[in-house]
Amino acid sequence: MNRTGLNLILQGMPSNLGAYHVLGSNIIVANRYILEYIKNTKSKEEYNSFIFAILAHEYLHSLGIIDENKVRKMTYKVCFDMFGKDHTTTKFAYNPLGAFPQLQMISNNKFETSFTQIKKFDDKNLSYIG
Ligand SMILES: [Zn+2]
Repeated sequence: MNRTGLNLILQGMPSNLGAYHVLGSNIIVANRYILEYIKNTKSKEEYNSFIFAILAHEYLHSLGIIDENKVRKMTYKVCFDMFGKDHTTTKFAYNPLGAFPQLQMISNNKFETSFTQIKKFDDKNLSYIG
């Protein structure tokens, strides 16, 4: 399975939500607050691993797989096969937010109304769009 031209957007949202995929669209929205928190308080490896895990998860949703548990298992398998059992990304794969329980301490339960689109995301597919 494959798809082209995914768009990544950042939005501040409640900290129990890492990212979401807009059903039927090519848009993935990631939680800006969480990304900033991890970037500012954790290692670069953890930050990159977290981003990979949530993007792989939402990517699988974007292929039309809606079942949450199935997506979690598939994300884990992809990371396991690519990085091995002991890699940070594999540890985050099944439940990325669960790796950072302190996120629940960030008192925020609002959705920001402004969005930041990440340019050059999924760039290799842009040539197909023209
Ligand atoms: Zn999900």
